[in-house]
Amino acid sequence: MTAIRIDGNVLAAKVRDRIAAEVSALKARGVTPGLAVVLVGEDAASQVYVRNKVAACAKVGMHSVMHKLPAATTEAELLALIDSLNRDATIHGILVQLPLPKHIAEKKVLEAVAAHKDVDGFHAENVGALMIGEPRFVSCTPAGCMEMLRDIGMTDLRGKHAVVVGRSNIVGKPMAMLLLHANATVTICHSGTKDLAAQCRQADILVAAVGRPRFIKADMVKPGAVVIDVGINRLPESEGGKLVGDVDFDAVNEVAGYLTPVPGGVGPMTITMLLQNTLVAANRA
Ligand code: NDP
Repeated sequence: MTAIRIDGNVLAAKVRDRIAAEVSALKARGVTPGLAVVLVGEDAASQVYVRNKVAACAKVGMHSVMHKLPAATTEAELLALIDSLNRDATIHGILVQLPLPKHIAEKKVLEAVAAHKDVDGFHAENVGALMIGEPRFVSCTPAGCMEMLRDIGMTDLRGKHAVVVGRSNIVGKPMAMLLLHANATVTICHSGTKDLAAQCRQADILVAAVGRPRFIKADMVKPGAVVIDVGINRLPESEGGKLVGDVDFDAVNEVAGYLTPVPGGVGPMTITMLLQNTLVAANRA
């Protein structure tokens, strides 16, 4: 059996068409959704990510402003910029690209973004809202994974066992919470989990957010399971230098029922959910 591919590019295009139509309706009422993207430093991957986010805004007709700050920017300077964006009525969403340089306290910066403009869903208020089942802004990557599940008809996950490998604040934990709210029975695994393979084999839905290339092997997957690969890992030049996920795609493809590719899977859905959150923020404003 070969897995059915969940194509993130195709689904993202469909959702973005809908967002573009809603943006144009909002513009007709005099509001252009606006996103501010803040990048501190020269991290190569971050530069690509922010460029893609700004380009995606333009494509759906949103206004976006990019603030590129040098690596030596002080925490106070960054907080001052966020304060001015919080008060800027043309900006509905603020995204601070992570990671930040070591001398800046990430937590302090994320908490400085006004919760109603926190389109990344990283502010403690938004994280708490998700926890109590009243989500406002949900972290974009897990939100995108849920869209992918909905697209294959998996809306109510009652009776399904979901296993999330990874417990980061931006992916693993919110992913687990969303699956729980969709009525799945959820297991969260991490580096301290005993017999990870056995845990994974229980999964009807397996989400890999580990950050290790091809970490999930075929013998860790229940036949027919839905496998969502969040990982984005660049292989060393000696191994071809290409991007791969956390799932050993070719092998797992022979076992899983559904599988997301990397690239072209969760990545495009993440940016789409950022657009969606910005649209929601503009609508609320
Ligand atoms: P983190 O490094 O913050 O978290 C990784 C998690 O994996 C941790 O909880 C860690 O456990 C767990 N882990 C690491 N090694 C093992 C192991 N051997 N066995 C079990 N668990 C393990 O990563 P992120 O959550 O930020 O990202 C995960 C991946 O997703 C990365 O490849 C990242 O690039 C990608 N990503 C992709 C996005 C997209 O748009 N597609 C967006 C965001 C991230 P512990 O907590 O115990 O250390």
